[in-house]
Amino acid sequence: MVDLKSQYEKIKTQVDTAIQNVIDNTAFINGPEVKEFQKELEIYLHVKHVIPCANGTDALQIAMMALDLKPGDEVITADFTYVATAEVIGLLGLKPVLVDVIPNTFDIDVSAIEKAITPKTKAIVPVHLFGQCANMESIMALAKKHNLFVIEDTAQAIGADYIYSDGTKQKAGTIGTIGCTSFFPSKNLGCYGDGGAIFTNDDALASKLRIVANHGQTAQYIHDLIGVNSRLDSIQAAILRIKLRELDAYCLARNTAAKYYDAAFANHPKLKTPERSIYSNHVFHQYTLQLNGVDRNALREFLASKEIPAMIYYPIPLHLQKAYLDTRYKQGDFPVTEKLCSTVVSLPMHTELETETLKQIADSVLEFVNK
Ligand SMILES: *Cc1c(COP(=O)(O)O)cnc(C)c1O
Repeated sequence: MVDLKSQYEKIKTQVDTAIQNVIDNTAFINGPEVKEFQKELEIYLHVKHVIPCANGTDALQIAMMALDLKPGDEVITADFTYVATAEVIGLLGLKPVLVDVIPNTFDIDVSAIEKAITPKTKAIVPVHLFGQCANMESIMALAKKHNLFVIEDTAQAIGADYIYSDGTKQKAGTIGTIGCTSFFPSKNLGCYGDGGAIFTNDDALASKLRIVANHGQTAQYIHDLIGVNSRLDSIQAAILRIKLRELDAYCLARNTAAKYYDAAFANHPKLKTPERSIYSNHVFHQYTLQLNGVDRNALREFLASKEIPAMIYYPIPLHLQKAYLDTRYKQGDFPVTEKLCSTVVSLPMHTELETETLKQIADSVLEFVNK
């Protein structure tokens, strides 16, 4: 699905030197590379504070801890997402309140959020799924009206621009109370291990987030809060500094690949290409087709026989996962998510797709669906 090897070959000298420098300096934890990466990402995102941490799941957990959400508080998020989003809500004893998504762009349905708000609701967690922003302007208006926090899950959309109705742009993850991202290797800005970060424009909240991420420590060996241990290590930060400089070019390469797929599958009765939101550009973490009357398993097997991977993101809606079963929800409650889970398929999407490869993938998909 991704070709990290070819991508590495292009930046090998820089990466190898950067890693060797960290080893030579032995500042493996909280070294200067972490601070530099933090500053560079703040500049790139136009956000006041970046707090690096160990992974994207931790970022979400730290965000909810720093907002003092209490057991029983309700947090609204999308039913159609990666499990981490709902997992941390459950882990902290908060109550995940799931809502459906919109079919064409896969993003959280704002009218469904509005209907799910109760006096116990404390936060909304929009997920910028597959590389495109949720409808932040409406979500922020709703949050303001009901006095709710907004935690953006930007794990799949770092670098994406949210586009306001007046045309101004703001980076995904910097609009809500807090933004959270992941640097998992296959993410759009991926390191060579685990990594994550938290964004905020709020000074007081930034210092609280830093304290929570560092054992609740306010001064050396002074612990005012129960926190966690969540750090980005220096080797990962050194790699991320190099890859951040390439991020816009990486987004462009992903868009070029997406355009190829779009053209190849345009107006096909059995293939629905991913629609672009009017309020976001797309950074194509995934290129996801919706199938209509196609045997999805057989398609995947056919592609696999030609050594073309294809993945299902995501095969089971959260409300039907064993760990998240809840008497509040039953099959049929989230029809859009349920339909997407049985009809979506994601094609290879990364920064190193040559036209020849794209042609081979698209031709193979078409060969199968036109049979
Ligand atoms: C990857 C991902 C996460 C979690 O990130 P990790 O670094 O793997 O913990 C959270 N939310 C979404 C939407 C993701 O895609």
